[in-house]
Amino acid sequence: MELAPPELIAKYQPVIGLEVHVQLATRTKIFCSCEMAFGAPPNTNVCPVCLALPGALPVLSMDAVELAVKASLALHCRVNPVSRFARKNYFYPDSPKGYQISQYDEPLAEHGYVDITVDGVKKRIGVTRVHMEDDAGKSVHDGFRDSDRNTYVDLNRCGAPLIEIVSEPDMRSSDEAYAYLTELKQALQFVEVSTCDMEKGHLRCDANVSVMLKGAEKFGTRAEVKNLNSFRFLKLAIDYEIARQVALVESGGRMVQETRLFNADSGETVSMRSKEDAHDYRYFPEPDLVPLRVSDEWKARLAASMPELPADKRQRFVTEYGLREYDAQVLTLTRPMSEFYEEVASVSGDPKTAANWLMGDLAGLLKAAGKEIEESPVSAKHLGELVAMVSKGELTGKSAKDVLPKMFETGEAPGPIVDREGLKTMSDMGAVEKIIDDVIAANPKQVEQYKSGKTAVMGFLVGQVMKASRGQAAANVVNDMLKTKLG
Ligand code: ADP
Ligand code: MG
Ligand code: ZN
Repeated sequence: MELAPPELIAKYQPVIGLEVHVQLATRTKIFCSCEMAFGAPPNTNVCPVCLALPGALPVLSMDAVELAVKASLALHCRVNPVSRFARKNYFYPDSPKGYQISQYDEPLAEHGYVDITVDGVKKRIGVTRVHMEDDAGKSVHDGFRDSDRNTYVDLNRCGAPLIEIVSEPDMRSSDEAYAYLTELKQALQFVEVSTCDMEKGHLRCDANVSVMLKGAEKFGTRAEVKNLNSFRFLKLAIDYEIARQVALVESGGRMVQETRLFNADSGETVSMRSKEDAHDYRYFPEPDLVPLRVSDEWKARLAASMPELPADKRQRFVTEYGLREYDAQVLTLTRPMSEFYEEVASVSGDPKTAANWLMGDLAGLLKAAGKEIEESPVSAKHLGELVAMVSKGELTGKSAKDVLPKMFETGEAPGPIVDREGLKTMSDMGAVEKIIDDVIAANPKQVEQYKSGKTAVMGFLVGQVMKASRGQAAANVVNDMLKTKLG
């Protein structure tokens, strides 16, 4: 397929809307009590309900509803007091019912948003709706002796609890789509409704993409691209799709509404089928389930149990701790990281220095050891104590840099290590003065230079004192004392 060059693409305005499927972190499936175990042998977590045996009836999991409501609140949606399940009819071998139980014209929640920032520009992306549905099983096309002739089916995933999050067509570039998915994933992980592990298929994303001439009012015809199982693929597929559509329209062709598949090997999207319309699915209300009612009390209770959302936390870190936007962003990337930081900040009493030590030295040690913050051998309390010693001048920054790796190795608190190694900053001013006198006596040439106005030599003299004190003299004290002595 021919792709349009950048100068042609520049004449067009891309429009993007995402449909995101998220698997809820419940112990059981959505309409039966089968376990949701990942990696179980094929067709072992199944029962008459998820196998759709005649007469078996679905029972809605309240755990799934709770997580779906929390997700909706995290996305600032209005949760409807009554929502309804509907059958979406289609035939596919991995769906024994012959339909999906989803929600259609009365979804769980609507009218939400996700705030993104791209290149320093803030923007609000609308969330049209959040609805609940069940997942299908998996067709297995490879790995059997007769795979050239037969396809096998694994129904363990059949009936897995999902929410679908549909965005408004508010995004205008692949970068905005990337940022939207990043924020959405982070919010859902923070409220612990899903692991959002893309590799395990717990977060799946379809991108709807269209192009129109810049300044046009009416959106172009969209293509829906499926199978985007990484952030990188999402971006690549959208950019490919934009270039393909512009080339098509520029050459006088017409876009057809279709479903396309992203091929990760070629980096291209290929047509899969013409896009079905809602009427193709013959939606009708699910007769086996009563309407879902979410009372105000229940909603309020769930809202009260929600942790602070990442975007709010980020903002608070800036105002409360005086952190830079970037630092606040890094420290709120995951909930464990943000909790670790807050403890270091509080124990140390010096939030800014705490941020530097956490993002600098400790992050470096963790990275080298291939560990996450949750696995840090240095506890937040101990890092806080170390930072406090530096802030109070009991330990020089230089000594602290030597102490931290030892804490990392042994899991010890800084106190015992500092005592054992005699690293405490010299509080005995007489001893510091003695070293300074020795350094002055031993370096008459530099002293002369300083007195004749070459003040840059001060750095050398301070260095000599620090060396003689094995880094234990406080640099500011040494500086002051030297200046006084040299006049
Ligand atoms: P369907 O079930 O047909 O996929 P949905 O309502 O579930 O329809 O999702 C439609 C998605 O397509 C939404 O994310 C919406 O923002 C997006 N969309 C709608 N029109 C356009 C368009 N012209 N260009 C790009 N995206 C669009
Ligand atoms: Mg859809
Ligand atoms: Zn089951």
